[in-house]
Amino acid sequence: MDNHVHDDTVITASALYKYQECHRKYKYAHINLLDVNDDFANRLIGHSYHRCLDRAYNLLDYENIILELQDTIPFPSENKSTSTLRGMLSARFALESSKFLPWESIIECEKELTLPIDDVTWAGKIDRIVENANGLWIMDTKLRNGRYQMMREIYENSVQLVMYIIMARHHNYPVLGYIVDCCRIPILKETKDWPSYVNKIHEDITSRPETYFDRFVYPVDSNLVEKVFNNVRYWVNQIKHDTQFVQNFSACVNYQWGTKCPYYGICHENVDISTFTRKAKSHTELETI
Ligand code: SF4
Repeated sequence: MDNHVHDDTVITASALYKYQECHRKYKYAHINLLDVNDDFANRLIGHSYHRCLDRAYNLLDYENIILELQDTIPFPSENKSTSTLRGMLSARFALESSKFLPWESIIECEKELTLPIDDVTWAGKIDRIVENANGLWIMDTKLRNGRYQMMREIYENSVQLVMYIIMARHHNYPVLGYIVDCCRIPILKETKDWPSYVNKIHEDITSRPETYFDRFVYPVDSNLVEKVFNNVRYWVNQIKHDTQFVQNFSACVNYQWGTKCPYYGICHENVDISTFTRKAKSHTELETI
């Protein structure tokens, strides 16, 4: 049994969300560094979509990222995930600059930034810093499996996004607020003929883009910055000084989505944590930090 002491000095928004959901879940992910494949296919599509956009907006070929995705997942070389990604990207580029995807100049792509908070480092990777007629904005792409009620409200006062604003301003980018670029992942009947599946996805998105894309703009003022920063500072200190990492059993099963916590076996079935592989680092999404 380990003694729960940790020396993780970097905290991100997703790590904080994990801690708020269940302290023990944070410990398994960021102190024990247990590797789990939760929601594997969708996570890969989301991660690869971001990386492909980053490459494309830097005017680079993104095909290698799709090839990497093919190598990563245990399926035949072209598969549902890679075809979905190709269809989504080709439809997006066809619609770029339309009213569904208004164009802004890109100043930075996938920018990793940090901010000192007491004795820890807050870190995050910003999808894009963009400029429109009003000035600079953070732009964050969010992939969703469905279209939800209250989409605008979901991202209002987002700790992750307001902290991006604070980090960007700290690094001398005078950003006015954040723009959420929301994209829905298509769920269409598979054909197994992958080129025609790519076309099917492309056609479905381009024929009814209003069901696939939403853009929400949130200016951020100094009151909100102060409120969110104080809130984050409180939580960061809670994490740093926690020695118990209590379990929140009400978070073990998500009845709405029909999913279990990836560490369910440890907490409920006595699976030994030594049977898990360990991640090489705490925040695998960060490349330079
Ligand atoms: S299974 Fe439950 S108690 Fe255990 S880490 Fe997950 S949410 Fe927390």
